[in-house]
Amino acid sequence: MAASESVVMMECPVCNTIRPYKLADGRFKCRACGTRFSWTSAWDSVRLEAATKHRLTEMFVLGVPIYRLRHRKDASAPTKERYYRLLRACCALAEGLGDPFQAGPGGHIMLRITEAGGKIAVTPVAIGAEPEAAGFISRPQRTGRPWFIDPQHALVMLALKGEHVLIGGNGEAGPATWSNPVISAFWSQARKGMETLRGMRLRYFHLHLGEACYRYNHRDADLKPLLLALMRGTTIREINQVIADPKPARLPPHPLSLPGLPDDPVNLEALPHAAPLAWAGAAVNFGTDHAAE
Ligand SMILES: [Zn+2]
Repeated sequence: MAASESVVMMECPVCNTIRPYKLADGRFKCRACGTRFSWTSAWDSVRLEAATKHRLTEMFVLGVPIYRLRHRKDASAPTKERYYRLLRACCALAEGLGDPFQAGPGGHIMLRITEAGGKIAVTPVAIGAEPEAAGFISRPQRTGRPWFIDPQHALVMLALKGEHVLIGGNGEAGPATWSNPVISAFWSQARKGMETLRGMRLRYFHLHLGEACYRYNHRDADLKPLLLALMRGTTIREINQVIADPKPARLPPHPLSLPGLPDDPVNLEALPHAAPLAWAGAAVNFGTDHAAE
């Protein structure tokens, strides 16, 4: 039995019972309800050498963007991008951010940041259904900043431009009746990373937010073993429910892409990977040639 099988919490897709029987054909059989199922982890779904996946995980943890790895010929750029996206999807699942955000009235999205015991949780907010959100809608200059609605909760409204989420904005922080240093620190760190994501798409925003939450909530830990465990313990079936399009290689080439230069950084799909440098605290300026529009 492979070593990884002993740490993976395989569970029946029907009744969630763990520890299924292994069948001779490689599938599994639930010991409770008898359902037969296959089980492919996010880790196993990427057909790269284990050493390459370890290295990519390490690069992700350290905040190295994909296009910085373009001269490494260990995997294609789309494969690396997919691997990073899988890591982010694992983070998003772990942080309960499984669904893409939906654009609200006025081309905005809203999220609620909750702090409990030093941990952060983020949930999407339906702008129309939230009484506290009324103050936001009438004051669009408040985008980008946490607006504390009590000591444990803050709302953040972000503007959309087309299908992209805008993280910038130096709007007012809202009524200063309350504050919460954990929420402020989290959002500052998340924002720092996302500000460089020019062209970050709404459809992937929950993945980036999941990464931000996961990094913040595990700020005192080495992320690499944690992420490896997530990759091995999360099925690709779960991941596919979180990622709208798990196969970026099948996307039509972006008009900015240069033919014959698939690793060229002028590629919208590669843009989100500029962010992790900010996570790592590196002060590197890549210039403005990655503009999304
Ligand atoms: Zn079952």
